[in-house]
Amino acid sequence: MKKAKDYTCITGASAGIGAEVAKQFAKLGHNLILVARRQERLEKLKQEILTNNPDLDIVIKVTDLSDTDNVVELYESLEKYHIITLINNAGFGNYDKVEDQDLEKTVMLIHLNIEVLTILSTLYVRDYKDCKGAQLINLSSRGGYMLVQNAVTYCASKFYVSAFTEGLALELKANHNQLKAKVLAPAATKTEFGQVATDSKAYDYDEHFTKYHTSKEMAQFLMELYHSDKVVGLVDVTNFEFHLSEPLFDH
Ligand code: NAP
Repeated sequence: MKKAKDYTCITGASAGIGAEVAKQFAKLGHNLILVARRQERLEKLKQEILTNNPDLDIVIKVTDLSDTDNVVELYESLEKYHIITLINNAGFGNYDKVEDQDLEKTVMLIHLNIEVLTILSTLYVRDYKDCKGAQLINLSSRGGYMLVQNAVTYCASKFYVSAFTEGLALELKANHNQLKAKVLAPAATKTEFGQVATDSKAYDYDEHFTKYHTSKEMAQFLMELYHSDKVVGLVDVTNFEFHLSEPLFDH
């Protein structure tokens, strides 16, 4: 149950899926904590959301999560807010054969997709495991349940996210904790993801994919997962339909 001063915190809120998810939670009347590196983008999003939802409190946290110290500092700086939902959305991909992948980018990918998500999840579980209504939603990928050519390291990082989050969901349930952990697994979604994954200025989704979702559609799927009692929200790559399910890994 949402209280007056409940906040939803979204990492990677300056673009793509994260920005649309912020708008969806604003519609539910949640106050927001928006985290990313690009301050201008966050300010613009804040103004846009406030136009339709003037009563909300929207906190901007300009943070580069590539530095572990910043991750812990960020979490500690949020102590005064009651974070009813944490969305670990910040992440990126890389399209390359393993032998060609840039090592600096690869290390950063593993850091952001795996380490940052694990640190924030762990700190959140410690504080909110017995909080009724609290939810942790981690962004995996369809590539976190199947291997995709030319994206091996990215897929492996998202297999971690899927396994970690499903395992955490089972652990919380077994311990009768209140907090729910959930994992969203999008397939191709038109965002800045393609540009970042290919280190290019532009990326044509129509050229590379026969089907893809918009970030708004993906945010709506995330809300379906949020409102459900299921653990996994996954896009079926054969027909691009969205399905909710219990954990998928053997356990
Ligand atoms: P996007 O448009 O590139 O957005 C990524 C977000 O992460 C941006 O807000 C970016 O903000 C933030 N971010 C990146 N590095 C950061 C850092 N070091 N510190 C803080 N924030 C950082 O990509 P998206 O598609 O929305 O991706 C969101 C999530 O969905 C990711 O976890 C991605 O792996 C997952 N996903 C995407 C797809 C897809 O096809 N798009 C498919 C499956 C899964 P700043 O640059 O301002 O910091």
